[in-house]
Amino acid sequence: MAEIKIDWHERAKDLRIDGRAFIDGERVDALDGSTFECFSPIDGRKLADVVNSKAADVDRAVVAARSAFKDRRWAGLSPRERKQTMIRFADLVLAHKAELALLETLDMGKPISASLSVDVNSAANSLRWFGESIDKVYDEIAPTADHTLAMITREPIGVVGAIVPWNYPILMACWKIAPALATGNSIVLKPSEKSPLTALRLGDLAIEAGIPKGVLNVVPGFGPEAGTPLAMHLDVDCIAFTGSTGVGKKIQIMAGQSNLKRAWCELGGKSPNIVFADCKDLDKAAAASIGSIFYNQGESCNAPSRLLVERSIKDEFVKKLLTHLPDYQPGDPLDANTTMGAIVDCGQMENVLKYIESGKSQGAKLRAGGERVLTETGGFYISPTVFDDVTNDMKIAAEEIFGPVLSIIAFDTEQEAIAIANDTEYGLAAAVWTQDLTRAHMVSRALRAGTVHVNSYDEDDITVPFGGYKQSGNGRDKSLHALEKYTELKTTWIRL
Ligand code: NAD
Repeated sequence: MAEIKIDWHERAKDLRIDGRAFIDGERVDALDGSTFECFSPIDGRKLADVVNSKAADVDRAVVAARSAFKDRRWAGLSPRERKQTMIRFADLVLAHKAELALLETLDMGKPISASLSVDVNSAANSLRWFGESIDKVYDEIAPTADHTLAMITREPIGVVGAIVPWNYPILMACWKIAPALATGNSIVLKPSEKSPLTALRLGDLAIEAGIPKGVLNVVPGFGPEAGTPLAMHLDVDCIAFTGSTGVGKKIQIMAGQSNLKRAWCELGGKSPNIVFADCKDLDKAAAASIGSIFYNQGESCNAPSRLLVERSIKDEFVKKLLTHLPDYQPGDPLDANTTMGAIVDCGQMENVLKYIESGKSQGAKLRAGGERVLTETGGFYISPTVFDDVTNDMKIAAEEIFGPVLSIIAFDTEQEAIAIANDTEYGLAAAVWTQDLTRAHMVSRALRAGTVHVNSYDEDDITVPFGGYKQSGNGRDKSLHALEKYTELKTTWIRL
């Protein structure tokens, strides 16, 4: 069959974008009428006026969510009914794939090919997987000392507050929405002010799928104005947060100070990618190292931004790495062949450029990139940047840059590699490249990270938990482990 080529620029012209909040099953304006302008990082074009939610709007969403929870219009459905509705929701997301992918790319700047093949597909898969799982989870009967019946059941927490970042907008939203809905909760979601558009569309599609009104609410707005009132709200039962470590710490305080709501956070990273001299396939390791740091313009929490290479092969390996750079040059995100898109906004681009300057001034050797790429249409682009001769105490190795910057650090021994890898406040992900099975196991075990890849970097599956050690967070998204987080445990003693 001939491949159908879509002119995404033409499609973008016809796109109608609704920036209103989604509360109690309807698109609504802010109570004070206020909006903010949402711009595309691709070319700086204005996409929409988006509702600028404040405490009163958040409260309105929480009231709707509480009312839906109280009358059990969703929680009271059987697991099978919830499952069927969530599968319809997933199907609708896929049916609107082109529109959602286009919105995602325009809003956030990632290549359209990634939005289509990864983000929207994975978002739908998350809704489907959690929906399908919920009629396969059993409660427990405890083996009590005197045979008294004690049932241990899981119940929905109630009203879930979810706050998500801008780098994988629809996917991060669905990683929260899917387990929250599957377990029967109501949810108020605050997307990032930098990329709120696909989350808002999820509200419309949820209603179309048959999820009752008030169960899913989306309040776009800024962190302090909309996120804080959600985290502080006395009638919100838990907060599921994904974002930076700095804001995550504030969320934990807010959750404790308000009503001791449960809060869990998925936070930043500075992940080590360790290549030993006995790696079987250095070409594969080089391609994967480059592909995974520059995917999503380096704006991934688990990006392997510290490349630790055994000194004896370092020069050879760096040469191999550089041959892959032409595959990741920034281009028009609406071109289906582009592999690297725009940085999310001007502020983030400037942050990344500042880090690049600090790398130069602290003595790291710039091997490639290091500058803004100007295009005819404007927008915010940075060339893939590689620093060699980095030491782990330099700013570019110690801090999360969240942009297309790779730091290469040499090591001599296995113990030194482990020490450098763990010498960070973060612990989200890591990789080990070796053909020595014992070393693979020993090093994986020694690494303080929530995910360790051996001889690869790109595995991803909804069936495995994703989250961090140390200051990369204290929760887990995905898998049945995430499902548990959205439930309360109840013990019921029954004497007959
Ligand atoms: P951020 O912390 O600035 O913002 C995240 C969300 O929190 C946004 O919706 C924002 O509006 C909101 N927020 C900001 N200040 C707030 C406040 N005072 N009160 C309440 N809410 C507030 O993060 P970001 O720049 O949007 O995203 C990038 C960060 O997210 C990176 O550190 C990245 O590593 C992390 N991240 C982690 C994961 C993971 O699964 N571990 C996934 C994606 C992104």
